[in-house]
Amino acid sequence: MSDFRVYAIRYARRDALRGEHFHGHDATGTEPHPTSYYVWLAVSDRHTVLIDTGISRSRAETVAGLDYLASPAERLAELGVPAESVGHVVLTHLHYDHTGTAHEFTGARYVLQRAELDYWTGPWASRITRERWLLNDDDLARLQEAGKDGRVTLVDGDAEVVPGLSVHLVGGHTAGMQVVRVRTARGHVVLASDASHFYENLEDDRPFPILHSMTGMYAAFDRVKELADGPHLVVAGHDPEVLDRFPLLRPDIAVIATGE
Ligand SMILES: [Zn+2]
Repeated sequence: MSDFRVYAIRYARRDALRGEHFHGHDATGTEPHPTSYYVWLAVSDRHTVLIDTGISRSRAETVAGLDYLASPAERLAELGVPAESVGHVVLTHLHYDHTGTAHEFTGARYVLQRAELDYWTGPWASRITRERWLLNDDDLARLQEAGKDGRVTLVDGDAEVVPGLSVHLVGGHTAGMQVVRVRTARGHVVLASDASHFYENLEDDRPFPILHSMTGMYAAFDRVKELADGPHLVVAGHDPEVLDRFPLLRPDIAVIATGE
């Protein structure tokens, strides 16, 4: 059974402030703290799995200060991976910056937690102003269409997507937030996505301020640490530092693990 090659692929970045990224007010809240936007790719001899799909170009134009470097599909093309070769798209959660180009992966099966879909189609999300902004209605509608075509796998908890790659419900940031664990030659990597936007969230035990459950956020930190074969194999969701902690294949593309 072959191990996966794993890449963190940055497609956008934005200047931001520390206060946007750590729960609770403190004196450092107005200091600069840039954010990066990624998708992640796991490739083995048999499977091509994309984890999250970024922001669509049209939505990107509405996000103040966002520097949209390339679309996720364009980045995959740089790696020689055509969009139609992606067999599975794992959606860690349904915020707009993770679902925006899912429809471009026409040959893919979508994998998400049932709790996540239930939340966004349930009675609460539509009443909460911030949630209406965080969800892209068109992305949800297209996902529901794909569901009717039998292209969506809804998971309850933990599940293997393909041999060596599994998803794990952690909650916290959103109702059905999941992380991805990938077997590599270096050990098991965990793609934490927004279970830990920045390494500092996880390492200093300081939740991100946008959250569904505060205690769930802490439990997610614990679960991420438990699932990874060492802290050096955790990949944070929005941290520019990912591109410093792991070697670069080319600008904006870090190699989390090679195949051998
Ligand atoms: Zn995000």
